[in-house]
Amino acid sequence: MFYTLKMAKRLLLETDKRLLWKLAWNVGFKGMRSVQKHKARLRRGEFFPPFLYVSVINSCNLRCQGCWVDVAAKQQTIDAAAMHRMIDEAQAMGNAFFGILGGEPFMHPELLDILEQHPDCYFQIFTNGQFITDEVAARMRRMGNVTPLVSIEGNEIISDERRGRGGVWSKSMQGVENCLKHRVMTGVCTSLCQTNIDDLLTEKWLDRLIEMGVMYAWFHIYRPVGPDPRPELALTPEQQLRARKFVVEMRAKKPIVIIDAYYDGDGKALCPAATGFTHHIGPWGDIEPCPIIQLAKESIYDTAESDANAPTVGQAKRPGDLPLSQTPTRAGLTEHSKDATGAAHYREGATAGSSSSAVPTVAEAHYRPLAETFNNSQFLREFREIAAASSRGCIVLERPDLLHELAVLHDARDTTARKTSLAELAAMQHRPSQSSQSEQVPEKNWYYWFAKRYFFNDFGAYDTPRVSALRQRIATKQMPATP
Ligand code: SF4
Repeated sequence: MFYTLKMAKRLLLETDKRLLWKLAWNVGFKGMRSVQKHKARLRRGEFFPPFLYVSVINSCNLRCQGCWVDVAAKQQTIDAAAMHRMIDEAQAMGNAFFGILGGEPFMHPELLDILEQHPDCYFQIFTNGQFITDEVAARMRRMGNVTPLVSIEGNEIISDERRGRGGVWSKSMQGVENCLKHRVMTGVCTSLCQTNIDDLLTEKWLDRLIEMGVMYAWFHIYRPVGPDPRPELALTPEQQLRARKFVVEMRAKKPIVIIDAYYDGDGKALCPAATGFTHHIGPWGDIEPCPIIQLAKESIYDTAESDANAPTVGQAKRPGDLPLSQTPTRAGLTEHSKDATGAAHYREGATAGSSSSAVPTVAEAHYRPLAETFNNSQFLREFREIAAASSRGCIVLERPDLLHELAVLHDARDTTARKTSLAELAAMQHRPSQSSQSEQVPEKNWYYWFAKRYFFNDFGAYDTPRVSALRQRIATKQMPATP
């Protein structure tokens, strides 16, 4: 109760009331409404994720350890027309809250111009904070529909080591200060790993953030993926449990909001992509299960004529070779793809490393509605089912082999510029994730428990008949057949 009063006092005294109202309305009320709509869709057998992550650019000014994004490749952005279309279509499905990622999102030349045109949505920008000048912070305050989430990856020495050069920590902290000076709703996130857990998973660090005026913190768990994974940085199951216990304790003790995305209110692990709470759109427009799974069948640039689920010639050759496959039962596997037309050209043009760079403009192409794309995606549906059947944790860490099999079975595109995501998956060791803890830690703070109970949980994803059957098939090393 004391904590609640202190948090309420902070919100009332330290924030701009207009910004607070926008947050409460767009994230609070509309966020709850979007989850309710998602649940209703699931009951009708339909699907559209209530929360989308969008990586608007691949470029970044930093070279962090273990990054999976092709930050040094030729710059690719989602342009304004595509962003407006995507946001409008998601909004029509009831969504109002978007996560904006990169690369470094603030390197997108039109980022704030785009977001400003959607005052009835709210955007969380995952940033290194280096481009948040006084002017940028002042603009975000005027906009009122943006919250920067600045990543701080350790103390000054560790942070600079993790992020590839000196001076990064102080410049990121300056970005935070600029936001706070303008009373922008600001968060700080950390990807917990071996070199920062002792410094940042502490009351002292949270107290410092509170003293500065930061309103929320987010502790991710470092995942060793990408072209240069650093498994030596990954947390042990005991350390992951320690992180979970710390978060639950601090939520009941400190006047700062603490976010996590890997547990329900009772402390049961979950994967937000497996539950369908979120999926990700990459800089080339590819629709991926989540930011670290760089594989796709669909794109926001698919046209009405495209059919990503139509079997391809490549698929027809492969299922028999798969160790986990049943038989190639997908209807029409031996037929030629329907996509060997102009529509296919469009899809290729939207992907990294394609021979064509011709992404059509809105005027040139009749895009397939995003609702239809998400609803009809066999790849995403089977991803959710396999992820849920394999573990309540992270399939990328725990069962990269299954993910690899799924990608091959669907002939999924490698959405990286480096074109090595399948090889990276194949080379991965099986590692523990959030489901590997020895105990469940339920929420102690009633508000978090209530919010998760109704608005952030597994939505029944782990208990469907298909998932149960699949769990058994995985145990006997068989992949699913699509009915
Ligand atoms: S697959 Fe792993 S990284 Fe992706 S959303 Fe699920 S738990 Fe998170």
